[in-house]
Amino acid sequence: MSIHVTVWNENRTKPSTEKMYEVYPEGIHGMLKEIFERAGFEVRIALLDEVQSGLGKDVLEWTDVLVYWSHIAQEELPDCVAESIVNRVNQGMGFIPLHSAHRCKPFVRLMGTTCSLRWRESFDREILWGIQPSHPILEGVGEYITLQPEEMYGEYFDIPKPDETVLLGWFSGGEVFRSGVCYRRGSGKIFYFQPGHETYPTYKNEEIQRILANAVRWAAPASMKESVHECRKTEPVQHD
Ligand code: ZN
Repeated sequence: MSIHVTVWNENRTKPSTEKMYEVYPEGIHGMLKEIFERAGFEVRIALLDEVQSGLGKDVLEWTDVLVYWSHIAQEELPDCVAESIVNRVNQGMGFIPLHSAHRCKPFVRLMGTTCSLRWRESFDREILWGIQPSHPILEGVGEYITLQPEEMYGEYFDIPKPDETVLLGWFSGGEVFRSGVCYRRGSGKIFYFQPGHETYPTYKNEEIQRILANAVRWAAPASMKESVHECRKTEPVQHD
């Protein structure tokens, strides 16, 4: 059975980001949908302005992996939807927040830290190094990827110690960043991936596309483990 991917996007612009539709005429979600369909996944789009922010119970129950892009409307996601995402991750749903979604409500809740970082939008060059070459997320990807331009995201990135750091970014301004990090929360797998500023064509890069598809395969659950994440009063299993 193919992996069910929900691509969630706030799909909002402000004057400085209107160029986004020149780079991605179908929206960032449209570009991501194309990447994941080409990889053989079943894809659905969910947007902030839809009923229940596009992430009602039925959608989350259908979803194996939630890929999430947000920036200017982080606070508009209702708390109850953020909670539903967190609960679903605990039960096994994969979660891949991209780029400025480092500050989205569900990721911040899952991390328990501020997830703040250093940033600069000034056409920096990024060299993205794969530092765990045998990791499934780097399957078929070269030693490094050069992105020009990409928005600079620099340390200190206020996240808990990652379970695995798969990619490190170096920027032409001298900064470095943990650009691809993995966590497990409950039964779910999380991969935060830094590249993807809305007005730069990052998601058109074939190696970035390969990382995204690999990350979905890595994060997809073998099965959902709903019952083990509820407290349950039980009888002894041994009586002698
Ligand atoms: Zn950005």
